[in-house]
Amino acid sequence: MEHIDTLVIGAGAVGLSIGAQLSQQREVFVVEQGKHFGEHTSSRNSEVIHAGIYYPSDSAKARHCVAGKALLYQHCEDYGVPVKMLGKVITAQNDAEIQTLEKLILQAEQNGVDDLYWLSQVELQQKAPQITAKAGLFSPSTGIIDSHQFMLSLIGQLEHNQGHFVANTQFISATPVQRGFLVTLNCEGQTFTLSCTHLINAGGLFAQHNAAKIEGLSGAQIPPIHYCRGQYFSYQGAHPFKHLIYPVPEQHGLGIHATIDLAGQLRFGPDTQFIDTIDYATDSSALNTFYQAIQRYWPQVDKSKLHIDYAGIRPKLQTSGAQDFIIENQSIHGIAGLINLYGIESPGLTASLSLAQSIQALLDAE
Ligand SMILES: Cc1cc2nc3c(=O)[nH]c(=O)nc-3n(C[C@H](O)[C@H](O)[C@H](O)COP(=O)(O)OP(=O)(O)OC[C@H]3O[C@@H](n4cnc5c(N)ncnc54)[C@H](O)[C@@H]3O)c2cc1C
Repeated sequence: MEHIDTLVIGAGAVGLSIGAQLSQQREVFVVEQGKHFGEHTSSRNSEVIHAGIYYPSDSAKARHCVAGKALLYQHCEDYGVPVKMLGKVITAQNDAEIQTLEKLILQAEQNGVDDLYWLSQVELQQKAPQITAKAGLFSPSTGIIDSHQFMLSLIGQLEHNQGHFVANTQFISATPVQRGFLVTLNCEGQTFTLSCTHLINAGGLFAQHNAAKIEGLSGAQIPPIHYCRGQYFSYQGAHPFKHLIYPVPEQHGLGIHATIDLAGQLRFGPDTQFIDTIDYATDSSALNTFYQAIQRYWPQVDKSKLHIDYAGIRPKLQTSGAQDFIIENQSIHGIAGLINLYGIESPGLTASLSLAQSIQALLDAE
């Protein structure tokens, strides 16, 4: 039976970042159940490099977002991944929202993000023509990235280090044995077993399902998962924006904001809807809700140019309140060599390279 050092479950941005990082020192296989890498959340998001403004002080999200942002910009430069530090405008429509922006500045500073600044009405009009707001903040270090090229660059790094990305291969189950695991995989209908010393579960929306297939983990040790779909409308035609435009954040996300992709295409989203199964179906009847949300900050938006686009699903750990990334190793679940990542919602793309470094540190400390 083949033995490898580390098996990573899942080839999204996080699993691939972990694979690329660990492959510098270890033999790594990254297995992916889909035909291609990154078919789930990593290709169904806003492709924004977040600055690290919103997350509670000392949270894993704050730490990994701020560290990950710096690593990601550097990685894009080193590997030629398309990226633009466009900056974003966060708008407030009334006094209560201005207070939220004031809190955001303080929160950002606590998170180590000290480059936010207020925009005068003149600056607001220059940075965000046609946008109406009582006040606006500018975040210069927010950017956009080509997430597909980013993941491709990680596969390149992994393979350069003699690591392997294996598509069409599903993790089925694992049994802890002395110094590692016996793992059952299904590759295009054929089941086979290998052994590994370390097992990293970066399964995104499927992480809890995978954890339940690892012998020795009880149901009580696995956090619940709640799927929260967010869909986007694209805006066909010309638009006046050069920066991303955000409202103040809302309970489950950052609000229906305007992002521009590297091709200059404007899109709005994501909204929030809790669903029972992983289902990427979109609902064009949300048009009115989107239109109203966008009109609050862009009254001239042309409704006829809004077209339903795609949806992504957030792996929420709870249905209300702030939640953090969960990374569990032996010190928490008691199984040597196993690391589970749960709830890697936004800003997981931004944070991915920092998360990978922390997984390396956990393995090195074993
Ligand atoms: C609507 C939305 C907008 C977002 N916007 C942003 C943003 O602008 N900026 C940002 O930083 N973050 C954003 N995020 C968050 C970010 O997209 C995710 O945190 C990140 O992509 C998660 O990556 P992942 O690798 O953990 O998960 P995924 O990309 O879902 O990858 C997990 C992979 O594991 C595979 N897998 C699972 N189980 C198995 C198994 N048993 N065997 C083999 N393979 C398996 C899956 O097929 C999948 O490909 C957004 C998320 C959503 C939903």
